[in-house]
Amino acid sequence: TVEALERLKGKDNVTQSGQRIDVCANIGSREDIESVLRNDANGIGLFRSEFIYMESNGKLPTEEQQLQVYQLAAEAMGPKKVVIRTADIGGDKKVEYLGLPAEANPMMGYRGIRISLDKNELFKVQLRAILRASAFGNISIMFPMITSVEEVVAAKKILEKAKEELRNEKTAFDENIEVGAMIETPAAVLISGELARELDFFSIGTNDLTQHTLAMDRQNGRLTNHYNSHHPALIKMIRIVANNVHLEGKRISICGDLAADTTMTELFIQMGIDELSVAPSKVLPLRKRIREIQ
Ligand code: PEP
Ligand code: MG
Repeated sequence: TVEALERLKGKDNVTQSGQRIDVCANIGSREDIESVLRNDANGIGLFRSEFIYMESNGKLPTEEQQLQVYQLAAEAMGPKKVVIRTADIGGDKKVEYLGLPAEANPMMGYRGIRISLDKNELFKVQLRAILRASAFGNISIMFPMITSVEEVVAAKKILEKAKEELRNEKTAFDENIEVGAMIETPAAVLISGELARELDFFSIGTNDLTQHTLAMDRQNGRLTNHYNSHHPALIKMIRIVANNVHLEGKRISICGDLAADTTMTELFIQMGIDELSVAPSKVLPLRKRIREIQ
């Protein structure tokens, strides 16, 4: 019942035997922040920043406009973590004013970090905004659709440039800001050990990882009978990532829809997953499930 869930506010996400797992929330706009607080999430595990680009009235959001939103999230969450994913534009998330040509396979196309590394200036503006917001709370940066170590190195290079600019301008930011990546391609799964030497944390995007592992478009209605988000290959992949990332002493989270699937929670805890990040409305139901597990 609603009352039973209400009583879970302020409680820990801990199993009967004392195993702890963080439950964070996914958001896409400033309007979602309120429900993150109301549902008592441990932080924002995924801020889908591309929605800021999609809802900015036909032009690129400026550094100041982005700073406003990120700062609001950071201040609202206080000491709790806010993971801002750099824009995952493309795929199903179209930003018309960029004038990108239509593609036959947009989910496997020009999107996410691929656009950011191609449009350096656009990327640097976003990184500057995130860095500046990091002076007001506990912000981390996360790169989407990573497939190689080289992409991470290139992205970190632009991040360093943004930091250097801010230092020269005497603008405050968190010098120790953590940097992570989404694991949402089979390539990223298989090189997660190498990636873990370059980054501080990871989050598995099971929505993309499922469609790219099964080679099935997640939005194709004719495939729903075949689209098995519990496919053994996917479970194996999550296990591989958790092991590789933990061997390097880094943290691993899951932020795709599967994170909210309470039939999977026990398995995720057994695998040692450090954090689950779900829609704000799923935070308390997930906490309820965690507290039932032996
Ligand atoms: C995912 O792919 O699982 C994910 C969390 O990112 P998005 O759903 O925004 O593609
Ligand atoms: Mg994704």
